[in-house]
Amino acid sequence: MSQMPSQEQIWRALQEVMDPEIPVLSLVDLGIIREVKVEGQEVTVVMTPTFSGCPALEAMRQEVEEKLQELGVPRPRVEVVLDPPWSSDQISPEGRRKLEAFGLAPPPVHRGDPEIMLNPVVPCPYCGSRRTRVTNTFGSTLCRAIYYCDACQQAFEQFKPL
Ligand SMILES: [Zn+2]
Repeated sequence: MSQMPSQEQIWRALQEVMDPEIPVLSLVDLGIIREVKVEGQEVTVVMTPTFSGCPALEAMRQEVEEKLQELGVPRPRVEVVLDPPWSSDQISPEGRRKLEAFGLAPPPVHRGDPEIMLNPVVPCPYCGSRRTRVTNTFGSTLCRAIYYCDACQQAFEQFKPL
């Protein structure tokens, strides 16, 4: 019988598993990791991918399993839950700060309000001005939009609300 890591140790270790799309954010920052269950020798991590059918899902699952094995969990279980679906509201406050520092405007918290999702006010991550406008709804990846800030005249990307 080996000593099982605590929930806290597991959460801390999962903070080191980065999102393949946005390498400054961990799966914990993004809210992809929903739950960690420790029952005796059994450790289960519940995760919901940002996009269902996300090709990176298998890679993420494997990384989570490897992390748990490093902590001494012999047979970690990763449970993928698609319902309720992931929403950008689940990005943690810490994750939002990291996105901004990365030059990517964090998505507004919308709580399902379609008006906020479709016409978000997106403050510029560089100067904080709200005088911004969308120039292209598809940025470098499907989940990003390109904005332009009229105040500091810089283009920036926004993580689209979902
Ligand atoms: Zn600006």
